[in-house]
Amino acid sequence: MDFSSNIARLRPSATIAVSTLAKKLKTEGRDIIDLSAGEPDFPTPDWIAQAGIRAIREGHTRYTPAPGLPELRSAVAASMMRSGGGKGWSVTSDGVVVTCGAKQALYNACMALFGPGDEVMIATPYWTSYPQIVSLARAEPVFVAGPEEGGFRLDPEILEAHRTPATRGLILCSPSNPTGAVYSAEELQAVARWCRDRGIHLLSDEIYRRIHFDEAGAPAPGLMDLDAEDVGSAVIIDGVSKAYAMTGWRIGYAVTSPEIAKKLGALQSHSTSNAATPSQMAALEALSRPDDADREIAAMVQAFRRRRDQVMAGIREALPGLEILEPGGAFYLFIRTDSRYGDGIDGSEAWCSDLLEEVGVAMVPGVAFGDDRFVRLSYATSDALLEEAVRRLARSRAGGG
Ligand code: PMP
Ligand code: GLU
Repeated sequence: MDFSSNIARLRPSATIAVSTLAKKLKTEGRDIIDLSAGEPDFPTPDWIAQAGIRAIREGHTRYTPAPGLPELRSAVAASMMRSGGGKGWSVTSDGVVVTCGAKQALYNACMALFGPGDEVMIATPYWTSYPQIVSLARAEPVFVAGPEEGGFRLDPEILEAHRTPATRGLILCSPSNPTGAVYSAEELQAVARWCRDRGIHLLSDEIYRRIHFDEAGAPAPGLMDLDAEDVGSAVIIDGVSKAYAMTGWRIGYAVTSPEIAKKLGALQSHSTSNAATPSQMAALEALSRPDDADREIAAMVQAFRRRRDQVMAGIREALPGLEILEPGGAFYLFIRTDSRYGDGIDGSEAWCSDLLEEVGVAMVPGVAFGDDRFVRLSYATSDALLEEAVRRLARSRAGGG
């Protein structure tokens, strides 16, 4: 069958594919530990969930304006201004578009800003959907990686080496999925200024900003922590999925100039209309009680941090020689496995399949993130399962056991 050229290069999401396979094997009775899923294992805090239930009961079951409930757009703007207030920013609700997950915020931004003939730089290793979404906009993804020992972080020199007259955008993710690398405010400032001075749109994916392993509990630096004058045309991508354990509610947002926001809203008015109304009401509750939310987030981050340390130590002991980049945020380990390739295992996909087949542990091949030398492990699961997963890894063929 001939499909349109819109989807000529489309590949289904590898992260979703692996977790779907893991779920299927589980329902078939296999004993599977799923370390592929990129979502918190915690339930949505009850007071947020109750707001969603209340919203349905109280009849908030109709369309909202396409860019979102005005109250929620204002609450997002206010939450942004908590960092940006003293830095010359003036984010208001007309610069906010509420979307069906952060994924749609990215999708809308790429569709609105990029098209045929445009090149969009993607910080590599990348979250698997970035190049797909750029390609759906018929623009060309350009993969740019910094040095491995620096967590692949980019700086102006590396960016400049990849710039062409067609460069229109840069997609950056900090804390990064899949590496967990975090840009300092100075590094972010250098990148932002580089984009600003060249008229390059900066898409800053800050969905893991609150999941930051900082002693003082501060969020990872984001664009709103920079002086507003350091930042040119930019779209901040964020949402409630990760920090508030609300992946299934499907609420994300784009924060940008009112001019761009208008286009994102117009685009959305012809695709999904608006994000689900009860979900928007629940997100409004989450953002309206920052002190309660901060307590919930701190508890989750503490658990993620403990698990990060536990799994890193476990893997280092059980599988000496496998290098792991120490993540500063998010909930993934990016593990370098290429020293174990060979003997029928010719890359990260084969490594992950072998592991799943032999010991029932699911991880995502690094090739899905643009680097076949690695695999991604999500430690957003219970301590007991993580311990058992490390034991299984130690005795697996793929792990060299
Ligand atoms: N960006 C990154 C880096 C992610 O890992 C995810 C997780 N799916 C998203 C965006 C999309 O988030 P959401 O579930 O809110 O669409
Ligand atoms: N962001 C998560 C992941 O990377 C969820 C799955 C997806 O949307 O890709 O696994």
